[in-house]
Amino acid sequence: MKKSNDKKETVVKKPIAKFSPKRKKENRQYTIKRLQFLDQPENQRCFIDGCNNRADTIEHTAGRWGSNYLDESTWKPCCNFHNLELERNSELSEKYQVSKISGKQKIIKR
Ligand SMILES: [Zn+2]
Repeated sequence: MKKSNDKKETVVKKPIAKFSPKRKKENRQYTIKRLQFLDQPENQRCFIDGCNNRADTIEHTAGRWGSNYLDESTWKPCCNFHNLELERNSELSEKYQVSKISGKQKIIKR
């Protein structure tokens, strides 16, 4: 008895959108969550020691990728100055940013 197994499956490839619907939704959520976060009484000031500036940005201490983007537990309130400074100054970022590999605080070498 012969079985016919040669039915061809047609794979329809979807074109890749520039921004996936998921990311678009995340962006909207982020805009709202960000405002709510910065509205909390404990998030009014920059999280950097000794800085008393008003926080008007979010520092993603564990990066912006994946679920961290919307995960407030990885967010810190940050002033504009230190937000830029954390991008430019590797010493400062080592001190305050969570390691992307372990998810834990980076070890500070002295
Ligand atoms: Zn600051």
